[in-house]
Amino acid sequence: MNYANIFLKVFPFLLILIFVEAFLIVGWKKQKYPWQESFISFLIAIGHRISQIIPTAGFLIFAWNHRIFTISLNSWWNVVLLFLSIELTYYWFHRASHRIRWFWASHLVHHSPEHFNLSVAYRLGWTGGISGSTIFFMPLAWLGFEPFAIAIALSLNLLYQFWIHTELIPKLGFLEWFLNTPSHHRVHHASNSEYIDCNYGGVLIIFDRLFGTFTSENTSNPPIYGLTHPIKSNNPLKIALHEWMQIFKDIISTDSWNKRLCYIFAPPNWKPNYTKQKSVKSIAAHIGQSPTF
Ligand SMILES: [Zn+2]
Ligand SMILES: [Zn+2]
Repeated sequence: MNYANIFLKVFPFLLILIFVEAFLIVGWKKQKYPWQESFISFLIAIGHRISQIIPTAGFLIFAWNHRIFTISLNSWWNVVLLFLSIELTYYWFHRASHRIRWFWASHLVHHSPEHFNLSVAYRLGWTGGISGSTIFFMPLAWLGFEPFAIAIALSLNLLYQFWIHTELIPKLGFLEWFLNTPSHHRVHHASNSEYIDCNYGGVLIIFDRLFGTFTSENTSNPPIYGLTHPIKSNNPLKIALHEWMQIFKDIISTDSWNKRLCYIFAPPNWKPNYTKQKSVKSIAAHIGQSPTF
C-alpha cells in the first residue's frame, strides 16, 4: 500500500527539522550527532520508497468490493470513526509486527538505529508489501471505508509519528494520558528489558493502556536504543534483509516443519527449547486471541 505518499510530499520540510534537531543536539545539548547513522536512514528511506512499487492496494480493493456497509466521510462522526478504527487496527498491526517474526523481519529496520532522533522516523522496511502487512487493514475496507480514505488516514498516522522520534522533547503533562508522545515512543524504541514490547500506538496511546502494553518512561532508567541483537552493518541492503536471512538460516537448520513454522511465525525470540504450548500461547496472546487447547 502506497501510504507513505503524504510523508514524502512533506519530506523537504521534515529534512529541515532533522537538521534543526541535529544543530540543537550539537550546539545546545553538546552531544555528538550520529551523521552516518542518519545518512544510512536516508538511504533506507529511498529503498522504502522504491519498494512501494509493489502493488498492495489490491487487498483493500478486494475487501471494498465485498463490503458489508458503505461508510461515507461526509459526516464528522464517520471521520472520527475512521480515525479510531485506523488507530485500533494500527495498534494490532504494530503489535503483530513486534511479536510475529514474519512481520518483525520488515519492522526491525525501523528499530535498528542505536540513536533516537527525527531521522529514525523515515527508516522504514522494504519488505512490508511482500509480507502482506496490508491484510491488517482489509477489515476496514470490508466494513465500508474507502481504500483511498484508509490510505490517507494511514499516511497522516505515519506523518504524526515523525515528531515523536526525538529526545529533545520532555514529557508533555496531560497529553501523555491519551497521545503517543516522544516520551512514550522513546520507551517503544528502547531495548532495556523493562521497556521491551510496549507502546504500540500510532497517534493515540489509549489502546496500549486498554490492552495492557503501556509502559511509562522512567527517568532513572534511560532508554538504550537499538536491537537486542544489533545488526552490526552499515549496508542498507543487509539491514533491510537481515532478519529474512536469519529466518532462512533457521529454517534450513532443522528438519521439523513444526519448528520451521515457529521460526517464521512465533515471536522473534522463539527458540526450539520453548515448549510448543508456550510458543502457541505466546502468539495467541500477542495477536489478541484466546489460545484454545
Ligand atoms: Zn515498533
Ligand atoms: Zn518509531
